[in-house]
Amino acid sequence: MHTYSMYIGGEFRDKKEKILIENPATQEVFAQIPQADESDLVFCIEKAKSAQKTWQKTSFKERKQLLQGISKVILENLKNLAELETKEIGKPIKETLFVDIPLAAQCFEYYASLIENVSFPSFFNKDAFDMVEYVPFGVVGMFLPYNVPLMLFGFNAAAALAAGNAIIVKPSELGSLSLLELAKYIDELDFPEGLINIITGEGPIIGKALAASDIDMFSFTGASETFKKIFESIKRPKKVISELSGVNLAIVFSDADLEESSENIMASAFMKQGQMCINTSVCLIEEGIYKQFLELLSKKMEKIKVGDPSSALTGMGPLRSKKHLEEVVNKVEEFKEKRAKIIKGGKALETKGYFFEPTIIEIPEMIYAECFNPILLVKKFNQEEIETIIAQNPTGLVLQIWSKDLKKAKALAENAQYGTVWINTFAQMDARTPFGGFKESGFGRTLGKWGLFEYLQPKHIGISFGKTQVSGWFG
Ligand code: NAD
Repeated sequence: MHTYSMYIGGEFRDKKEKILIENPATQEVFAQIPQADESDLVFCIEKAKSAQKTWQKTSFKERKQLLQGISKVILENLKNLAELETKEIGKPIKETLFVDIPLAAQCFEYYASLIENVSFPSFFNKDAFDMVEYVPFGVVGMFLPYNVPLMLFGFNAAAALAAGNAIIVKPSELGSLSLLELAKYIDELDFPEGLINIITGEGPIIGKALAASDIDMFSFTGASETFKKIFESIKRPKKVISELSGVNLAIVFSDADLEESSENIMASAFMKQGQMCINTSVCLIEEGIYKQFLELLSKKMEKIKVGDPSSALTGMGPLRSKKHLEEVVNKVEEFKEKRAKIIKGGKALETKGYFFEPTIIEIPEMIYAECFNPILLVKKFNQEEIETIIAQNPTGLVLQIWSKDLKKAKALAENAQYGTVWINTFAQMDARTPFGGFKESGFGRTLGKWGLFEYLQPKHIGISFGKTQVSGWFG
């Protein structure tokens, strides 16, 4: 069994109390991580504060070097990191190796080049001069979910470091290993001790303590329910970015390219076993093509190979934990009680590991519930009701629209309260495009220049060289 240490204040620290890490495909316990306590957090914050003071004074050139260094070590160790995420989380190796981890490296490279081009606006008047500076917040706490730890580290840490902050990353206890492994390579790079910290342990213990601590800002990516708990722990006003759950809809009109749309909706429902924030919760199919489209989806589902995630041929691996598998099994029973019809799948595999079949369930009434699992809900719609269905979603993360009528699709996209609308596409995003939610899906954006400015606060410095606007006001 491999023992990983956490990375705080520039040192690798172990603890007596450990969390065991299980491979969800085999149920073998293969690693352990430390459970941090309050004293680790105090040490970590102190070091981070001091490192941040130094880092804030560094030139963009120096920051760029670190970001490029991180991108380089991710790519140099890509295979190792991808295999580790696959082993711990159960995502097929095709996804970790070619999508998730390369995107993390791309984010560091992107922000390295972006900061070179950040300009500082200034305004000249006759006797006055106004400058706008961008100031980092200080020490940023970063809560990450289990599904894509390195990728989301790239989304958030690259921007926060580029902006001049220190970071304390709190990965999920179900997805810490790739970050702890990466820490070994990052430690070789040149930066102030304590600038980058990865503190591990249970959310309700060390996560709660981090939220209640004296950090200056935090970003949270995870479930809306967890966010509410974290919010209650915060002791003083501070900047918070939240990337939360979404009930993502995919709308297929009868004039859509059915082949292309079905391929994409399959990917959006079953990649990562549905454990991704951009996955499709409900696929709405226009009534005229309902039967035909459902048959197409069902046929395509037969091609999904469920099994060993480390095999290049595997399309779907196991769910991350026994608890999650049990929740999915119970969910299917609940759907049955609510008159939903199982079109395909619906069962756990009778084998070792937490495998669940790719599943399609037809729902009679609209349900706005996040599906973070391999269940695709399908429902018929007619033209008259679709705008209301889109608008009534309490969340607003991702909307997919499939139609050859781009005028109609664009009009729907413009009215929709969603952070991302994909028309005839899925997962069309990279380090340059903003990502985040409307409504209950959160506040703030990652990626692009918007992601950088979330981690900076603008400061106005106004200088007068003569009489000011208010001198003589009272006579
Ligand atoms: P989660 O909410 O259970 O955990 C997120 C983080 O919060 C983890 O680090 C966890 O340890 C910590 N945590 C848990 N309880 C805590 C507490 N009481 N106090 C402090 N910290 C606590 O999420 P998850 O199950 O790991 O991930 C799945 C969820 O994440 C889904 O709902 C999904 O939609 C969401 N997600 C959203 C995005 C996005 O960009 N919008 C991206 C990925 C995942």
